[in-house]
Parts: sequence; C-alpha cells; structure tokens
Amino acid sequence: MKTNDLSKIRKAMEKALDAKRYEHTLGVAYTAAALAMRYGENIKNAQLAGLLHDCAKCLSDEKRLSICKKHNISINEIERRNPFLLHAKVGSFLAMDEYRVTDPDVVNAILNHTTGRPCMSALEKIVFVADYIEPGRKHAPNLREIRKLAFVDLDEALLKILGDTLVYLEEGGGETDPMTQKTYEYYCGERHG
Ligand code: FE
Ligand code: FE
Repeated sequence: MKTNDLSKIRKAMEKALDAKRYEHTLGVAYTAAALAMRYGENIKNAQLAGLLHDCAKCLSDEKRLSICKKHNISINEIERRNPFLLHAKVGSFLAMDEYRVTDPDVVNAILNHTTGRPCMSALEKIVFVADYIEPGRKHAPNLREIRKLAFVDLDEALLKILGDTLVYLEEGGGETDPMTQKTYEYYCGERHG
C-alpha cells in the first residue's frame, strides 16, 4: 500500500480484521477524532492511528512471533509467554512497513496503546483513551464517568483508566505488563506531585 489515505486504510482494516474488531476499530477512530477536536490536535492523525491501532490483533500468535523474529523486533519474557500482547508492537511495525505511515507520533500512538508510557504525547493519550471509551465497549468499570471525564480532563481520564486496568488485571489473575504500572505511577506523580 502506497498511501495512508483514510478510506483505503479503512477498507484494508475491514479485510484484515474480524467483524467485531473492525467495529471496535471504527469506534476508536471516530472517538479519537472527537477527542482531537476537543483538545486541538490533528484530527487526521487521530483517525489514522485509531484505524490502525489494532491492525495486528487478528493475526495468529505464530504470525506475530514470526514477524518479530524476521524484523528483529525485541520480545520480552512476558510477551513471549503471551504473544497476544505483541499486537501493539507488531501493529506499529505494520503501520510503517505495510501501510506506509511515516509520522512517528502516529506510530507511537499505535505502539503504546495498550500500556501507555510515561510522557505520552497528546495523540498517544487520545488513542489510549479512545480505545477504552469507544461506543462499542460495554464491560469496563466506571465507563460512564470516564467517557464524560475524557472530554473534560484527558489526563484525569487517562489516570482513571490506568488505575482501573491495574485493578482489573490483578483481579483477573492475568499477567500485567509492568509498563502499565509504570505509566500509572508516572501520571499519579504528575497529578499529585
Ligand atoms: Fe489493542
Ligand atoms: Fe483496541
């Protein structure tokens, strides 16, 4: 693909993703666009990152691992045990390699959409938050409150999502990427420090 024209990317995602993930993707793209309007950020970049954020989600674990191996993308122990966690890393690679995205902020927004990171850009925060609040999400705790908060105070919404995610992962007994904790602590410090 030689272009990052939005409608072409949308069509490519319709093919690359299953129906449910495609619906979620459209929801993230337009929620990210709305947040970009609210916070004066680049709307097209928000849509592009939203459309591509889960582009590697419907690949098999084997495929994700083989892409990492082939392109020397480093994998940590947690990712090796849970290759579904790799969809953000592999997705950011495919965004550049297959969908010809050149803007590093868009690539970073895809790369960091599951765990966040300290010092996120506005676009990274927007995609992270949009992924959590898009209209198709139904089961997250405090969703009603966080949806409202996202359009009032983006950082506060981010912090609430990180906090709830850590609680949820702990309760579910799932393995937590330590970056989620790190991001949470960083933004706690930002807010209260
Ligand atoms: Fe994702
Ligand atoms: Fe997602």
